[in-house]
Amino acid sequence: MDFLLTKEQKFIKKAAREFALGEMAAVGREFDLNETYPEDIVKKARELDLIGLFIPEKFGGPGLGYLEQAMVMEEFWKVDPGISQQLCSLTFGAEEFILFGTDEQGKKWLEPIFTGDAVMGFAITEPDAGSDTLAVSTTAVKDGNEWVLNGSKVMIGNGTKGTFMLVFALTNPEAPRSRQHSIFIVETDRKGYKAEPMHGKMGLRCSDTAAIYLTDVRIPEENLLGKEGNGFHQLMAFFDRSRAYVSAHGVGLAQGALNMAVKHIRERKQFGKPIGSFQGVQFKIADMAVKVELARNIMYKAAWLLDNNTPDTHVTAMAKMYAARIAVEVVDEALQLHGGYGYFDDYDIERFYRAAKVLEIYEGAKEIEKMIIGRTIIGK
Ligand SMILES: Cc1cc2nc3c(=O)[nH]c(=O)nc-3n(C[C@H](O)[C@H](O)[C@H](O)COP(=O)(O)OP(=O)(O)OC[C@H]3O[C@@H](n4cnc5c(N)ncnc54)[C@H](O)[C@@H]3O)c2cc1C
Repeated sequence: MDFLLTKEQKFIKKAAREFALGEMAAVGREFDLNETYPEDIVKKARELDLIGLFIPEKFGGPGLGYLEQAMVMEEFWKVDPGISQQLCSLTFGAEEFILFGTDEQGKKWLEPIFTGDAVMGFAITEPDAGSDTLAVSTTAVKDGNEWVLNGSKVMIGNGTKGTFMLVFALTNPEAPRSRQHSIFIVETDRKGYKAEPMHGKMGLRCSDTAAIYLTDVRIPEENLLGKEGNGFHQLMAFFDRSRAYVSAHGVGLAQGALNMAVKHIRERKQFGKPIGSFQGVQFKIADMAVKVELARNIMYKAAWLLDNNTPDTHVTAMAKMYAARIAVEVVDEALQLHGGYGYFDDYDIERFYRAAKVLEIYEGAKEIEKMIIGRTIIGK
């Protein structure tokens, strides 16, 4: 067992930290308030190999691991959750190509994300199918050597900015429930693809989220990713990986909030002293720091297991659930320590507070992660 980071990992962390401070710190608040898409930052992060770190070199990616992806996300989220969300989502779903695609598909679809302006997303959620992904009713029907897709999706990252989407669709309604769906690659400029931005998010407001409408969208048969009827299994394998680095979102956000609280309590004086000198306040900081450190440890463990080819569904679910929970708790306490000032949007803590909640909802609501953990322990 080794808790030390390699020289390369330390370098990557430092590079991510400097990038976040240099590019995001000054604009994060304004971009969030105005829902401004961070176009230039996306371009720079791509040029510096700070996106999709787990994507192999043969598909144009940096060829590192989930641990490095998690470390970069942690550093980004410490500084600005919204811009970081957008940077993470540029390769959302790429795992499907790595695990289930052909080499030809991986090269064709993932390489342009790093060399050109391709952006992907993964469209699973529908108006009537959220946590229950097997309720997805968007259909894909084979017609000659094409698939024809019909249906609608909601809350989809990169729905408007994306150049292609992975779409989780119903292909075999007569099959047993877990064999009914498949995953397709759909270019967003196909006839019949329509996306409408969904404005007014509580947090992460500069990231692209959209509703998607598919009306007789025709795609060639080679745009099936993986096997027909294997979509649910492929989706779960994706979550087993993505949830590891989504837990880093929570760790980064919580650490960022803790740092802000520490700065504030050192400077703010009441009763003739810095409020940080009160033991009641010190205890709060200690509790917050313990939570962040524990979440970081399980997040690293989940990512390490993936990089060592021993994915563990319930450890990943624990990492995501715990990091999201402590992010919500820590940012709440951090805002409390800012007093009334924290309630105004000229303090970054206000933006972090709004951003945190989604971590307990997307990529599997916290209750879904609890179900996974409980079932693994008790047995189905
Ligand atoms: C900012 C943002 C970005 C997103 N990006 C994407 C994306 O890129 N692609 C995509 O496909 N989706 C995306 N989503 C959607 C997200 O994955 C869903 O919101 C999430 O899966 C929950 O589904 P739902 O909102 O329909 O909630 P529901 O499934 O309706 O659940 C509502 C609540 O009910 C409870 N609940 C549900 N089922 C159970 C159960 N079995 N046991 C106990 N409690 C339960 C939970 O508290 C849950 O939070 C995004 C959402 C947001 C907010």
